[in-house]
Amino acid sequence: MKHLVIIGGGFAGVSAVRTIIKEKLTDKLEITWIDKKGVFEYLPSLPEIIAGRAGPEAFIADLEPLADKAGIKLVKSEVKEIDIDERRIKLDKESLDYDYLVLGIGAEISYFGVKGCKCAYPAYRVDDYIKILNKLERTSPGSRVTVVGAGLTGLEVAGALVNYSKKNSKDLEIVVVEKMERVLPVLDNLKASVKARRFLENMGVRLIMGTGVVRVEPDGVELENGAFLESALVIWTAGLKPSKLVDKMNVPKRGRGWIIVEPTVRVRGFENFYAPGDVNCMIINGKIAMKMAEEAMLQAEVAIKNIKRELEGRRLISHKIKFPIDFPKSLVYMGRKTLLVYGKHVAYLGKIPYIVKRYIEWKEMRRIKA
Ligand SMILES: Cc1cc2nc3c(=O)[nH]c(=O)nc-3n(C[C@H](O)[C@H](O)[C@H](O)COP(=O)(O)OP(=O)(O)OC[C@H]3O[C@@H](n4cnc5c(N)ncnc54)[C@H](O)[C@@H]3O)c2cc1C
Repeated sequence: MKHLVIIGGGFAGVSAVRTIIKEKLTDKLEITWIDKKGVFEYLPSLPEIIAGRAGPEAFIADLEPLADKAGIKLVKSEVKEIDIDERRIKLDKESLDYDYLVLGIGAEISYFGVKGCKCAYPAYRVDDYIKILNKLERTSPGSRVTVVGAGLTGLEVAGALVNYSKKNSKDLEIVVVEKMERVLPVLDNLKASVKARRFLENMGVRLIMGTGVVRVEPDGVELENGAFLESALVIWTAGLKPSKLVDKMNVPKRGRGWIIVEPTVRVRGFENFYAPGDVNCMIINGKIAMKMAEEAMLQAEVAIKNIKRELEGRRLISHKIKFPIDFPKSLVYMGRKTLLVYGKHVAYLGKIPYIVKRYIEWKEMRRIKA
């Protein structure tokens, strides 16, 4: 039997395994699923750990039950290297050979080479939020907390900090620093940027726009304009990049090093290698896919279906981008309210989008935990 290896237990990995169950692929392939910790993390809701909605355990799920249900082997280990010529995966203590590879390892925080970045606290995965929360608990009332980046994560973290400060009577001064001139700079919806900015300012968040951070120190950040912003805590949300594992791979890449995939989700130039989710750069008919959870899941589904089709000698299917960059669709949690962004012109700020966001999370976590 040929050996399929899936790397990553995030949205793409989980969707790949679910599709394996639906397509009854375990009869046709030997399958191994590898994830660093063997745990799924619901990234879109993690900022709410700061807000105190629930502890970190509410946003994670053990992957073992899903692996058991699929009848596949789960390996909890970090992949250190992939030799794509030899079709070999190097783990901590062992190596695995594969015939088909599905790489869904997501992304990593990028510091863009800013000096002293080790002093900043990244906000990306569960462990990051636990560290932020611990640091906040040690922070004196009235301190300044600086959030670097006013993208999706930056705004969600700022909103969560407002809630944290209120709940814990910390009276924190929350500052967001953004290099671009507007908040949510990558979302092609000006109305959303204006609404989000106004809302944050009304909640007492200070926004410093149009100047980047050039250095992080244990006691604050230096800005491009020369100013030094003393801060008890610096939270870094400014950008993402592919992981070191991808850096080492000799595959076609674009931008910061995202793996170029075809509409079939196959890595360009490879017949047995698929890369769904945040790890890739997918462009179809000039449309670029956003790095979104549902997009990752749909791409992984297509990848697995295509592996089955390859085995059966059938024509491969193409993915249809559901979240293109030029038509953003997003729910941005901002503490007391959530912003719905739909296309270039619709932006609605209220409590209903939050209920929708919570419902999506509940449904997804329930499916994974079940
Ligand atoms: C704060 C925040 C808010 C967001 N909000 C939304 C939203 O509202 N809606 C939306 O659709 N999307 C949202 N996103 C984006 C969404 O979370 C991502 O697009 C999605 O997680 C991508 O899924 P993925 O499977 O590609 O990667 P991930 O979910 O990141 O999963 C990657 C997995 O691979 C594992 N892994 C990584 N490297 C290795 C290795 N070397 N060896 C073994 N395992 C490895 C990781 O441990 C992880 O389990 C948000 C993201 C963040 C951070």
